Amino acid sequence: MTASRVTADQELAGRLLAAIEAELPAATELRHQIHREPDLGGHEERTATRIAEALGDPGAPWVTQGRLVRITGGAGSGGGRGPDEMHVAVRTELDALPLTEETGAPWASVNGAMHACGHDVHMAGLVAFGRALRAVGGPRPVLAVLQPREEVSPSGALDVVSSAELAAVPVGAFVAVHMHASLRPGTITAQGGPVNASSDDLTISIEGRPAHAAYPHMGRDPIVAAAGTIMALQHLVSRRIDPMHPSVVTIGKVQAGAVGNAIPGSAVLTGSIRAFDEADRDLLHATVTETAELTARSDGCEATVNIVRGEPVLRNDPRLAAATAAWLTRVGLDPGGDMRSCGADDFSYYNAKYPSLMCFAGTGEDVVPGLHHPAFLPPDEAIFDVARAMLAGYLGACDLLAGP
Ligand SMILES: [Zn+2]
Repeated sequence: MTASRVTADQELAGRLLAAIEAELPAATELRHQIHREPDLGGHEERTATRIAEALGDPGAPWVTQGRLVRITGGAGSGGGRGPDEMHVAVRTELDALPLTEETGAPWASVNGAMHACGHDVHMAGLVAFGRALRAVGGPRPVLAVLQPREEVSPSGALDVVSSAELAAVPVGAFVAVHMHASLRPGTITAQGGPVNASSDDLTISIEGRPAHAAYPHMGRDPIVAAAGTIMALQHLVSRRIDPMHPSVVTIGKVQAGAVGNAIPGSAVLTGSIRAFDEADRDLLHATVTETAELTARSDGCEATVNIVRGEPVLRNDPRLAAATAAWLTRVGLDPGGDMRSCGADDFSYYNAKYPSLMCFAGTGEDVVPGLHHPAFLPPDEAIFDVARAMLAGYLGACDLLAGP
């Protein structure tokens, strides 16, 4: 990077920052409106259209319930010159959760859905950033990815990443920002390497033989087999996976039986397998299957294991992370904190195809409890943090795409 270019970029970053600040009152109003009228996954058309309109492109192409909005730079910026230029994609999610809101905010939702994962803040932040970029211009055009179905299956990211609409746009990098309650406000992470786990759905169906509760020897008890299986599965992470590698096997649902005085014929366990490493992921699939089958057989039952592969590991591009981290302080944010978790996000589907970066933005420890809770409500100031983190990611991507 030459000295003159650094100066030029810093000057541009300052103008973009000022433009983002000017957009904040309108973005805050938009956040309240989206929060009051949320849409569930698979039904985000109204929200997608609101965001596309706010970004100045009501005719933006659809990808299922989402939309792709191209944002080219302002006059005299030299940025966003033509459709063939390499874009920086910035993603926001559109969907809310099926929760009854308990925040007490004057703009709380009353329709039985709720933005309890901060997606309303992500959308408002993207609008503030996108409008600022359209006004001021920048080194490269942006593709605002308004993605549906982050919270539900099938994944909206998978739709977008495999769409002809995305393939029609040259994209050099993907950036996203997600709220996180365990980080201080104003703290933004931009770390290379894995930051979220792969996430696979597990179903174990155990077939036994029904009997009277008083005559267990006449049947084959699938509940005892299920209980043994649940306990045996807990040995896999502790005994079969390298202790330095984070991974999880959780059974979150147990279904069996109807009355206390009868042994049922079957039991079903439903759970989640998480890993930070693809080899561990494959190992857990194999050992979960083997453990369930053998444990059930030892109780005279038969287990059938079904694992549906979900999101891959979310792995941040180290060079994009470093380039973005260099911009965080220059846009007034506090880079820091090690934020890796066995949570999952379908942003990892972009990671698998493009140099990508997921940043986490702190909502503050006083926002208790955290994500997906009916009382989760990040303050409006978080919009500025998200917009600035997107700006840092954008400038970092521009540096990366400019080459050494
Ligand atoms: Zn989310």
